[in-house]
Amino acid sequence: MAKIKSIWAREILDSRGLPTIETACQLDNGIIAIASSPSGTSTGSYEALELRDSNNPRYLGNGVLKAVDNVNKILGPALVGMDVANPLLIDHKLIEIDGTENKAKYGGNAILSISIAVVKAAAMSMHYPLYTYVNQLASAVGLKTPLRMPTPLFNMINGGMHGAGNLDFQEFHVIPASSKNFTDGLQSCAEIYLSIGQNLARRGAIHSVGNEGGYAPNLFTNADAIEVLVESIKSTTYQIGRDVFLGLDVAANSFFKNGEYTIRDKSSPMDDVQMMEFYKQLIEQYKLAIIEDPFEQDGWESWKKLTNSFSSQLIIVGDDLLATNPKRVEKAITEGACNAILIKPNQIGTIWETLKVIKMARDAKWRIVTSHRSGETNDSFIADFAVGVGSDYVKFGAPARGERVAKYNRLLAIEYELSYYKK
Ligand code: PEP
Ligand code: MG
Repeated sequence: MAKIKSIWAREILDSRGLPTIETACQLDNGIIAIASSPSGTSTGSYEALELRDSNNPRYLGNGVLKAVDNVNKILGPALVGMDVANPLLIDHKLIEIDGTENKAKYGGNAILSISIAVVKAAAMSMHYPLYTYVNQLASAVGLKTPLRMPTPLFNMINGGMHGAGNLDFQEFHVIPASSKNFTDGLQSCAEIYLSIGQNLARRGAIHSVGNEGGYAPNLFTNADAIEVLVESIKSTTYQIGRDVFLGLDVAANSFFKNGEYTIRDKSSPMDDVQMMEFYKQLIEQYKLAIIEDPFEQDGWESWKKLTNSFSSQLIIVGDDLLATNPKRVEKAITEGACNAILIKPNQIGTIWETLKVIKMARDAKWRIVTSHRSGETNDSFIADFAVGVGSDYVKFGAPARGERVAKYNRLLAIEYELSYYKK
């Protein structure tokens, strides 16, 4: 197949106004593919290192010129001449050159942008849709799956580290019934999104948006935010439990300190047993379908207890707990700590490693939730990736804001293409 002619990188801005890295991969057949790395705000401690120029005052220490240099001067040149017939071998080489556990030498952001650009270039060379090509790569690591249109988790209200308001929980989700096709699910939740905006305006609550396009209000409690969702859905034609369901990404690390969880719903901090009781009430009252990161990233015992009690009725997703990291995933499978995984390629740093983690999770019969980051660009690779690996769910933020709808609009296009091919 085609060989890599050159690889170059540049510093661009993400949706938060922070720098990120964009990398181009040029092949000797003239194809050029471009990819960028997303970036998290509420990052877990077990993620691959995101290299930033912390000693340089540019962008308040958030520049990525060192990562750009690492691509332009070290990683890119090392790949020139390699055949893109097997991008997974190229990932292997990148891992070898970096040589650290967490991509600390050259930066997970630098490495992932190359990894994605190479996959895109290879797909273009083969004249395959990107999702079909990802599906073949998945197969190469033993993850044999049909292409699947995922069910979206729409992040309607942003709190925690993502919202300018006062909520502790990070994400309040509305989820269309899995029986709906993607196009109809998107429409219903976009209508609900508008209804939530009107509801918040009526209450006199702030309805500007947070990092992921969801509203970021000031409310009395986190449970009030769920009430806002319930009320807003009631004022549409959709019904909770039939057309749509509710979910949360609690991101509990962000309000866990000295062994206790502090949230505005309770007058004093809670230990893990009290937090569990609080979740039980929420799960029962609101028939929650999904909960992500209910406990801090090292609270294994609490995770296990929640999964033991609720795994038949609730999808319990590990994000900061697992960090798309095979060692953490293996421990969680052995201990029964959750029943679903949030897949974020930049937590581990290459597509190859991400595919292997998905295979592990699938073998354990976990649900797969493929996710964006709070800092995004308009790159829609993650949408193709989600379909190619057969994800059950995707999480790309609210159905609003350019960098979020870039992914949802790409899923619309893929759904159309897949139905067209079937005709
Ligand atoms: C998340 O926590 O699931 C998330 C997408 O946020 P971030 O990218 O800030 O980690
Ligand atoms: Mg999360």
